[in-house]
Amino acid sequence: MNFEIDALFIEDAVRSSELAQRLVARLNSKVPVSYVMDGRQAARPLPVDDAFVAGKRRLVVMNRRSRFLSPCPAAGAGLACCGYLVLVLASNCPMNCSYCFLQEYVADNPGLQIYANYAQAFEELERLLRTNSARHFRIGTGELADSLAFDRVTGLSVDLVEFFRRHERLTLELKTKTDEIDNLLRMDPLGRVLVSWTLSPSRVYRSSEHGTAAPQARIDAACRVREAGYRVGFHLDPIIAYPQAETEYRELLSMLFDALAPGEISFLSVGGLRMTPGLRAIARRRFPNDPMLVGEEVLSPDGRYRACYPMRLRLYRSLAAHIQAKAPGLTHYLCMETPAVVARALGTAPPSPAVLGERLATA
Ligand code: SF4
Repeated sequence: MNFEIDALFIEDAVRSSELAQRLVARLNSKVPVSYVMDGRQAARPLPVDDAFVAGKRRLVVMNRRSRFLSPCPAAGAGLACCGYLVLVLASNCPMNCSYCFLQEYVADNPGLQIYANYAQAFEELERLLRTNSARHFRIGTGELADSLAFDRVTGLSVDLVEFFRRHERLTLELKTKTDEIDNLLRMDPLGRVLVSWTLSPSRVYRSSEHGTAAPQARIDAACRVREAGYRVGFHLDPIIAYPQAETEYRELLSMLFDALAPGEISFLSVGGLRMTPGLRAIARRRFPNDPMLVGEEVLSPDGRYRACYPMRLRLYRSLAAHIQAKAPGLTHYLCMETPAVVARALGTAPPSPAVLGERLATA
């Protein structure tokens, strides 16, 4: 996949960084390069109709001012948590999913930021290991950006795999909706890197996941990295409660299990569509014809709109039964739901974040 960029901005402080030099060398020479004092200014919204989309075409290489490593947003929000840690190496994404939370989250700074001082992230990870001497950790880079969308030009996966393969108690999770795996195929991750794909039925892909790889292309890419020695996982997230959802998510799972044996999959996460009122308003304004955005939802106690509880429960239970029948033993968990909802949907209380985190980091 080749995402187009209109302009490259490089913060003065990182002008001679390896990342900046790589980008200048690898981007098409027609992409104009500007050097700026403060990358945060270059990432601000342009005064155009869709500043969010315009931001997706402006790449800003800069220093990150805050920590790289943080707990997943579910931790501390009263939701069942999988103990996942987030490593923020970039912000925003060249694809354009209608339900994407970044539409609201980075509305004030939609430029595609990539942080050149990521060696500090490795220091943070080494500190984490020193202060937690027995645990394994699963660390993901796909929270505020797609992990692989620009890998062809940034080459970040090469540095990441090189770091993680040296650290036995860390598992890197690269999360993507692309099939951008060429760099990965050239390395041996020594079993310490997991690549995960978000999967949706074709109907959702066509209506709502603009610029992403088709579901079958994602599964094919997963098969290829699996053969190259990577672990693979999948996220059915967001599950959208549209009229044909139960049948089509089951068909999607069957397509996945036709390609990969359950024993070849590290885990499957499932999470229903949730939107803050602000995100819902932005998404409906930007994608007025998307049938996936017009469902009847109710405001949950956590302030997010979700499909009503009985409908969500029915979908979760139906998928859990299908997974149990087709892939018994496959680790499957619910994401961004309360422990009470998880218990009712799966028939058992969720494990603690430490227990589930350890299981997923080593699966
Ligand atoms: S691929 Fe992920 S990060 Fe990118 S637009 Fe879609 S939901 Fe957002």
